Amino acid sequence: MRDLKSMTLPEMTNALKAMGQPAFRGKQVFTWLHKGVTSFDEMTNLPKDLRDKLKSEFTLTVPKVARKQVSRQDGTIKYLWELADGNCIESVLMRYHHGNTVCISSQVGCRMGCAFCASTVAGKVRDLTPAEMLDQVLFTQLDSGLEISNIVLMGIGEPMDNLDTVLRFLELVNHPDGMNIGMRHISLSTCGVIPGIHRLADLGLQLTLSVSLHAPDSETRSKIMPVNRAYDVEELFDACHDYFKKTGRRISFEYAMIDGINDQDWQADLIAAKLKGMPGHVNLIPLNDVVESPFKPSKRIAAFQKRLESHGITATVRRSLGGDIDASCGQLRRKAMEEAEKGENG
Ligand code: SAH
Repeated sequence: MRDLKSMTLPEMTNALKAMGQPAFRGKQVFTWLHKGVTSFDEMTNLPKDLRDKLKSEFTLTVPKVARKQVSRQDGTIKYLWELADGNCIESVLMRYHHGNTVCISSQVGCRMGCAFCASTVAGKVRDLTPAEMLDQVLFTQLDSGLEISNIVLMGIGEPMDNLDTVLRFLELVNHPDGMNIGMRHISLSTCGVIPGIHRLADLGLQLTLSVSLHAPDSETRSKIMPVNRAYDVEELFDACHDYFKKTGRRISFEYAMIDGINDQDWQADLIAAKLKGMPGHVNLIPLNDVVESPFKPSKRIAAFQKRLESHGITATVRRSLGGDIDASCGQLRRKAMEEAEKGENG
């Protein structure tokens, strides 16, 4: 059976036409799906026999809330969603003064292997579908009752390892007959999959590209990010300059500060040298302690920030939200998996 919500509006219109329906049915169905209906019977302006036919020919994804944690500190809400096949993914709703932002996952697990990241510990299980990505935005909004204005693709998974799906998701969530979230309100984060960066540059979308840099030198980066052995940081900087030339859009560089590994002044100097000619923004992230990882949070964040600023680089320190609810990527899913394992082993 085909997955109806993953279809674009033209595809839906064609599918309904092929069922002998008039052209306007496509938009009716699209609008219902993007309102987050959980059954075909809720599509009350469709004839009953058409609803039955849709039921027999298409699947309709409805994620279940497997767990929900609300931070008492700042109202951050973390969702663990159970998908149709029993796999679980996470989304986090963060409440900023500029609007509510949802951080969504792009894959079940991740195969990129970053040494400090909880999402990749058990590898990748599968890619998400466009509908499963859209559902995270839709059902986070419905369940929380809070209107979502911004999306960041910074949850579990590597968006550029599932880029066709991500692009389709962007088309869906951006659609005026759907959630209508503007590209300028969307960020996509990559660990540095260079062909994906080139592809995005050619598309010229108005979204914000985030690059998880974490080290400006090849030796350090290869130690903490295996992707660097396939796509070296020198080529990554080149791809970023190329992206800026083509799109005119400022890139945001994510930099998790790790004690003694990537927090030295010479590394700040090197970042500045490599970003010359491009208005980059460096976002320093206090490392989240992941039980499985040997790395510790750096104590040099302020000094590193100052050093970057002395070179004229804009550097901010990410405010940590939801510290009381395991709100960083992959932590809640890991916890649920561990508890399930313990349960199975008695
Ligand atoms: N795969 C994409 C998006 C998901 S990760 C990417 O790598 O960009 C979202 C961000 O959180 C990335 O910058 C990632 O490197 C960072 N991150 C992962 N584990 C972290 C940790 N323990 N502490 C701080 N940041 C972490």
